[in-house]
Amino acid sequence: MSEKKRITRRDLFKLGFSAGAAMTLSGVPGATNLARAEEEKPSKMSDTTLPQVPRRVLGKTGETVPVLLMGGSMNFDSKFDPKLAEAYRFGVNYIDVADCYNNGQCEAKVGSFVAKADLRKNVWITSKSDQHDPKGLERTLHTGLDRFATDYFDMYYLHAVEDPSVINDDLKATVERLKKEGKFRFFGFSCHDGNVDELLQIAAKTPWIDSVMFRYNFAQYGNKALNDAIDACVKTNVGLIAMKTQRSEVSFQDSWKKFQQKGKWSKHQAVLKAVWADERISAAVSHMDTFEKLKQNIAAAVDQYELGRADVQALERYATATRHEACDGCDHICGPTVDAPVKIAATLRYLMYHDMYGEKDKARELFRRLPTGAQRLRGVDFRPANAACPFGVNVVAHMERAAKVLAG
Ligand code: SF4
Repeated sequence: MSEKKRITRRDLFKLGFSAGAAMTLSGVPGATNLARAEEEKPSKMSDTTLPQVPRRVLGKTGETVPVLLMGGSMNFDSKFDPKLAEAYRFGVNYIDVADCYNNGQCEAKVGSFVAKADLRKNVWITSKSDQHDPKGLERTLHTGLDRFATDYFDMYYLHAVEDPSVINDDLKATVERLKKEGKFRFFGFSCHDGNVDELLQIAAKTPWIDSVMFRYNFAQYGNKALNDAIDACVKTNVGLIAMKTQRSEVSFQDSWKKFQQKGKWSKHQAVLKAVWADERISAAVSHMDTFEKLKQNIAAAVDQYELGRADVQALERYATATRHEACDGCDHICGPTVDAPVKIAATLRYLMYHDMYGEKDKARELFRRLPTGAQRLRGVDFRPANAACPFGVNVVAHMERAAKVLAG
């Protein structure tokens, strides 16, 4: 059955949005431009009575962004994606793309939407480079700008930084020149491995890093090193964006269903609201590949009331009970215990894309990009990794599954 491609105020009420919490369209210019581009029901596009996703300042950029950001790691329509149009109607005018998303087609597809809707000046586009050296970054940037058919990105990130030494003076010189040339307005990086706290501390001390997008979720509130690093970034005004807010369960399956709370919100909505409750975080990027997810997330965002006690308790129970299913990416702990050049954290992350997000092709493609030795999972004894993992992640079982579905 095809999904309904319009979200109404009534839909939002059904999904938890409370009357009186709405903000009318004010901060998002260009709704009429979008109306022109929308061929089916143009009159609806200029509806200025819809509630709008609230906005927060993104650190030293000094600009506001919606608290809910459209993640681009999915397959958009190559001409005019209706999810992007619908998100925009509710104020979600920040789209997070990357050179590698959707097998390298993401920038072109989102660029096509933006051109057709004539929205370039009204949307914030962040793109990213998988190449972390200055020359590689510049090459990837130019390719991205061509694919998107734009002169500039609003933000440009180094994608998935692990090695802190890539933030160096050579990169600084290139970033400052490209900024002067108008290729991007702001610069930063994304990170989701075990050294997120170390990288955030570096960002806090690096004046030319404007923003960081990092893995952050409800299960990490008690992590002191991470909290200290977030505080350091807030002190020096580095704009913080949360990603992977649904937590990195390696094999999500149906385990969370047992913990569905009796509160007002679904688990996915509650997790987002828990992140927004942290005012140090400007926004959360979300993987909204269906209208249902878009609708749920918008309903949670436009409702300005905090989570109730039942929701908070359910999240806490869920965090505790599923701790052994979430990999924090700290493979400096478990990796050295295994006698093979495997990449445990990366493999578990790709398994999460496969099992939890249903992104099977992307998961296999990423796995294929690992060094050949890291792709050989069969015959490796992962029992020492099980023993080493402080969170009790069952590496043996997950690697067995990864060998089947990723290494195939
Ligand atoms: S399996 Fe455990 S030790 Fe290894 S990276 Fe994941 S959380 Fe860290």
